[in-house]
Amino acid sequence: MKQWEENFRKVVPYVPGEQPNQPGMIKLNTNENPYPPSPNVKKAMDEFDMDKLRLYPDISSTILVEALGETYGLNKDQIFVGVGSDDVLATAFLTFFNGTEPILFPDISYSFYEVWAQLYHIPYVTPSLMEDFTIKREDYYRKNGGIVIANPNAPTSLSLGIDAIKDILEHNKESVVIIDEAYVDFGGESSLPLLKDYENLLIVQTFSKSYSMAGIRIGYAFGAPSLIKAMNDVKYSYNSYTMNQPSLYYGTEAVKDTKYHKETLEKIMKTRTWVAESLKNLGFKVIPSSANFLFVSHEEVPAEKIYEELRAKKIYIRHFKKPRIDNYLRITIGTDREMEVFLAAITEAI
Ligand code: PMP
Repeated sequence: MKQWEENFRKVVPYVPGEQPNQPGMIKLNTNENPYPPSPNVKKAMDEFDMDKLRLYPDISSTILVEALGETYGLNKDQIFVGVGSDDVLATAFLTFFNGTEPILFPDISYSFYEVWAQLYHIPYVTPSLMEDFTIKREDYYRKNGGIVIANPNAPTSLSLGIDAIKDILEHNKESVVIIDEAYVDFGGESSLPLLKDYENLLIVQTFSKSYSMAGIRIGYAFGAPSLIKAMNDVKYSYNSYTMNQPSLYYGTEAVKDTKYHKETLEKIMKTRTWVAESLKNLGFKVIPSSANFLFVSHEEVPAEKIYEELRAKKIYIRHFKKPRIDNYLRITIGTDREMEVFLAAITEAI
């Protein structure tokens, strides 16, 4: 090892699902939305004034923050925006988790939580989910330096009701509790109504899933003004201009079009219902999903074998080689046509 290499920050990076780009592929591996963003986004793109690129963007992202405030019924000082919810979550970890007690998040959840904890040298403990992948609330009654819960959880697709979140908040009045609601619009219950009573609650959402804009990279957080200010102080301490000028305009149009948002969600939930039923009929155990994906396991055929067979046909789903979930498959809900092709292939595979 070179002398200077000893000073490198040593991290094991997060590994996202692969992004293949093959003609005719069916991509059901990274929970993207199969439908396009609101037509108003396309209109904003066509009309975007190139001259705006000469200037730095507004560091407060005012137009986007105001549109989010309007749609979700919040004030500007309760909203933080970042470059995807990964950026928002990373900023939240850096801002709130500087204590000596370990932070807590479930053993089976979004694997980036562990990566950020390691990157920022945050001590952490990962209480095990129960056998059926539900959370044991009592695990979160212990002393801690913060809590992170994905609701609905990924990759399990299971969601917690607002009462369970309230209970966890009641037992944790001394730490920041982050609820990652990346998938909440697909049938979960948002903790938004709890914001007025809990100053230590941060809710994180994204444009990547329900708004069909994973490529634009916008995420946001809702919380008490003191939390939002603390996050902005940290953000302005390493890179102020993270939200680029076009994203501000396109994101604003997407969030204003609540009608289109709702229609897209309904289509995906409808598809999810029949795909789940079809998979059950094929002998799969299907976890009840509140997300835009299903988490399934076959009684006889190993998950890895199914994954490989589908992959050979350019149908990409996700298999995690991890303890407790290595016999499960995570399948993003695509269009009806994509899911028909997928079901024909999986029927053949088993
Ligand atoms: N949270 C969860 C639970 C996720 O699955 C993802 C998507 N990988 C994210 C956050 C981050 O999504 P994005 O950065 O695209 O908003």
